[in-house]
Amino acid sequence: MPKGHCLCGEIRFSWEPPSGGSSHCHCSQCQYSHGAAVVTWVSVPTSDLTLEGREFLKWYASSESAQRGFCTNCGSSLFFKPANYPEEIHVTRANIAGDLDVEPHMHIYFNGEPSWFKENDGLPRYANDPEDP
Ligand SMILES: [Zn+2]
Ligand SMILES: [Zn+2]
Repeated sequence: MPKGHCLCGEIRFSWEPPSGGSSHCHCSQCQYSHGAAVVTWVSVPTSDLTLEGREFLKWYASSESAQRGFCTNCGSSLFFKPANYPEEIHVTRANIAGDLDVEPHMHIYFNGEPSWFKENDGLPRYANDPEDP
């Protein structure tokens, strides 16, 4: 069973597969909300999601059509709830350990890579941070 949690571990979630689709989202709201160039989402039927630590979960209405859920203790952004489709909730792939029954199948709201993050940038890749003393 897929399991995930926020950075501090107060919010834990799991669901019974099959999972829905998964996609890489490049929209500016995801970028601002997560502080990242891209956010990978996995959709899960809302009724299949088991959630622990609800008292730490806060919802923010990021637009008229969606709410975003985050942990009030550690700030991890975890969930996306479309207002017009309550049967489905999106969870962040990065907060789920291990393999899933689905892999991302598309990039959405892709409007070119930001100037500061290119997927194939040719930069050196380190397993640690060589500039961190
Ligand atoms: Zn947390
Ligand atoms: Zn997005």
